Amino acid sequence: MPLAAITTTAIGLRCLAPVCQTLGAELCLAESLAADAAALTLSYRSYDSLRDFLTENWQRYDGFIFCLATGAVVRLIAPLLQDKATDPAVVVVDETGEYAISLCGGHQGGADRLAQQVSHCLNAQPVITGAASRLALPGIDLLGQPFGWVKGTGDWTGVSAAIAASGPVQVIQDAGSELWQDHLPASHPFQFGFPEFEDRDTVPKPQARVWISPIQRQFSEASDLPKVQWHPRLLWVGIGCERGSARQLIELAIEQVLQRQHLAMGAISGIATLDLKADEAGLVDLCQARGWPLRCFTPEQLKTLSVPNPSEVVEQAVGTPSVAEAAAIAAASGPLNPPILGDFEADLVYLRDSLRIPKQIIRHPDYPGAVTVAVAQAEQDYTGRRGELLLVGTGPGSLDQITPAAKAAINRADAVIGYRLYVDLARSLLRPGQIVEALPITQERQRAERAVALANWGLTVAVISSGDCGIYGMGGLVLETLKAQGWDGKVPTVQIFPGISALQSAASRVGAPLMHDFCAISLSDLLTPWEIIQQRLTAAAQADFVVALYNPKSKTRTAQIAFAQQVFLQHRQPQTPVALAKSLYREEEEIVLTTLQEMLSHPIDMLTTVIIGNRSSLNYAGWLITPRGYLGFSS
Ligand code: SAH
Repeated sequence: MPLAAITTTAIGLRCLAPVCQTLGAELCLAESLAADAAALTLSYRSYDSLRDFLTENWQRYDGFIFCLATGAVVRLIAPLLQDKATDPAVVVVDETGEYAISLCGGHQGGADRLAQQVSHCLNAQPVITGAASRLALPGIDLLGQPFGWVKGTGDWTGVSAAIAASGPVQVIQDAGSELWQDHLPASHPFQFGFPEFEDRDTVPKPQARVWISPIQRQFSEASDLPKVQWHPRLLWVGIGCERGSARQLIELAIEQVLQRQHLAMGAISGIATLDLKADEAGLVDLCQARGWPLRCFTPEQLKTLSVPNPSEVVEQAVGTPSVAEAAAIAAASGPLNPPILGDFEADLVYLRDSLRIPKQIIRHPDYPGAVTVAVAQAEQDYTGRRGELLLVGTGPGSLDQITPAAKAAINRADAVIGYRLYVDLARSLLRPGQIVEALPITQERQRAERAVALANWGLTVAVISSGDCGIYGMGGLVLETLKAQGWDGKVPTVQIFPGISALQSAASRVGAPLMHDFCAISLSDLLTPWEIIQQRLTAAAQADFVVALYNPKSKTRTAQIAFAQQVFLQHRQPQTPVALAKSLYREEEEIVLTTLQEMLSHPIDMLTTVIIGNRSSLNYAGWLITPRGYLGFSS
């Protein structure tokens, strides 16, 4: 999303530099700061008058990050504010970079999220004053955003106020993903569904109501219960039409048919038709204007489907007895988003019951052509979004050892998936409304598959690993899972955020043991045959690599570390220094500097990384040093 970073002082410039570098915000400055920007090697866009610049560019950016006095920002933006549905996010950072204030455009404008991202970048404190944030709830006006739902009519301010007052707020969801319900804080204000008849008198009366449904409800002006409606995109509109049917006629036909059944236009996922119609101008135009995908099927695909209203005339003309009904059913049954799960046809399990409106033929005196419309309802919401996988390394444990980019990635994701311990360590980076799936340590493959499934559906998914995600982490498993599904390398997109791996953390606590050639070997034989691990240990010992041993020992797996010690004793002196680094950068951290000979007399477990020095490594005054070269300078 395009972001602008604005300041009028050299100090502000230094403060915003990391925001430009990490979040990709465009720096906007007066020419008078050109030399300061050049000194920081920052490119920028220049303006003469900040007030005019803001007026001209107010709608061009999704967010503005100011490093200016709050009062000045308020005065600058006051004349530009219109309404919260369209205003951009505005965040203000103080010159010391201690606070990032979500000033306005909090929910829909995304300022709360932006303030959090800026805070992660600058190690600042986010200042968020919206009620949803205090309640650790997603804003009601943001609830369906990850799933691509469309906001319908309603009293959004009234319902938000009822939530802020702790409700209760009744939620009636008859369609769409229920995933959001599983990730609410324990003290949420929602009541799901209507109470059982016998409970009617005891259940507290709701103060607001949220509908989640493809149905378009008309809310009575007379009612004093505030209500809103979200429309999950589930409806596939099958269209058949005469060649040259006007775009207006097709649009009108769809509107008419949906309106008669009280269905919302917002609930439309897309249009389905016959491949012959892929270039039908009115249809293509309409889909582009409305942001609807146009899914086309061959007559062979369509004619196998049983439909309520087949037609012989149609069959003779195009080779299938049904276009609108069959195409609607086919689209509602097919895999979501781009059909990347292998062969489309083979995967299609047609849902005959999905047809919600049988075909209707619509003409209009003002427009040429005739349009046939049928509507089917899919089981899963069409997000209309391109999924993203963010493979994130969270470092050894404490939050100050995680990169700002990794923090921002975790905060930005719709869903966060990882091993429970690491998700817990990263908990303070999470934001309300995120889907957080913490799985036990053994289920790595399931975690990867789950992440890929959510990303295929269109969500932005952060998969977190401790240390670096590409070193015995989830990164490789996710890429392997994508490969197994025939991934094209592009969708879902993949971005990798490196982290400090255990071998670097361990080194930093004991000196400079990795100053010469080194390697890492995992002693876990869960995913690697033990013979291969043995061969690698022998080769590394012979080649005089400094070695970091990951997964050295578990409760049931104790022989491997003893074997490793024996191999190294054959090639190195018994006095070779060895570091045992346990729970690095966590509260329980324990570091032991010992020797190859003695190493097994100290506790070693799954939270330990073992570093074995090479032939020239030495323990000097309690510091483990590997000389930079073999030329003897350091001796
Ligand atoms: N991706 C991780 C490694 C995961 S394999 C990384 O890059 O660091 C798990 C092994 O990593 C553990 O058995 C232990 O050997 C090591 N490890 C991970 N975190 C550690 C920590 N905080 N302290 C010491 N060792 C750690």
